[in-house]
Amino acid sequence: MIVFHYYMAITTAPGYPPQAKGDLTGVSICRKCIAPKPARTHHCSICNRCVLKMDHHCPWLNNCVGHYNHRYFFSFCLFMTMGCIYCSISGWDMFREAYAAIERMKQLEKERLQAAANQTYYQTPPPAFSFRQRAFHKSIVYLWVLCSSVALALGALTLWHAALITRGETSIERHINKKERQRLQKKGKAFRNPYSFGAWDNWRVFLGVDVPRHWLTRVLLPSTHLPHGTGLSWDTPPCVTQRHTPLLAI
Ligand SMILES: [Zn+2]
Ligand SMILES: [Zn+2]
Repeated sequence: MIVFHYYMAITTAPGYPPQAKGDLTGVSICRKCIAPKPARTHHCSICNRCVLKMDHHCPWLNNCVGHYNHRYFFSFCLFMTMGCIYCSISGWDMFREAYAAIERMKQLEKERLQAAANQTYYQTPPPAFSFRQRAFHKSIVYLWVLCSSVALALGALTLWHAALITRGETSIERHINKKERQRLQKKGKAFRNPYSFGAWDNWRVFLGVDVPRHWLTRVLLPSTHLPHGTGLSWDTPPCVTQRHTPLLAI
C-alpha cells in the first residue's frame, strides 16, 4: 500500500485547467498564466502553472498535490505512518537489546584499555566483540530512531490533513477560509464552506466511496479510481445527493 500510493502520487499529474479561453465561463483569470482559473484552482510557483484543487507542492513527492492525486498523497501518508508505528512497537524489544549491547560493548572496551594500561609489556588484548557485531547493533538503534521519528512527524502531518479533509478544505483554502470567516464575523455574518458536505460525506467524496463495498475495494486495497468530477466545476457528487434525498419522497 505504501509503495503503490507513493508511486501513484509521484506519477499522477494533479490536473491542470485548459489553456483555451473559451472552454470555461464565469471563472477568474490567473495573472501569471493569463488563462482561466476555475474554482479551487491555484497557481503553483514551483511548477509554474495552475493546478486544479491545489493542496500544496510536495518536495518529497517532487509533485504538486491536487485534484487527481490528493487521495494518493493522503493514503501514502496514512499507510506510511501506520507502517512506522507498527515497526516501532514491534521493534521496541529489539531496540532495547541492541542499545543495552552497545552500552555493554562500551564498558568492555573501557575495561580492555584499562587492563592494557596496567600491563608492563606492550600488548593490548583483542576486543571482546567484532566490528560486525557492533555495526549490527548500531544499525538496529539507528533504524528504530529513524522509524519512530518518521512515525511522529508524518503522523502529525497525516492528522492535520485528516482534519482538513473532515472540513472539506485544502491546505490553501484553510488560509483563505480563515480570513473570510474573520471578515464575515466582523460584519455579523457566518461563513459557510461551499465545498463541504458534512464530515462523513467529505470523507466518502474524498476517498471515492460510493457504496459500502468500496471501503474494502477502494480504501483498504490499492485502487486507481478517479476522484469525483473534473476539478473544473464543483457540483455536489451523486453519492451525497442520493443519501440526503428521502427514499419515500413523492
Ligand atoms: Zn496560473
Ligand atoms: Zn507544484
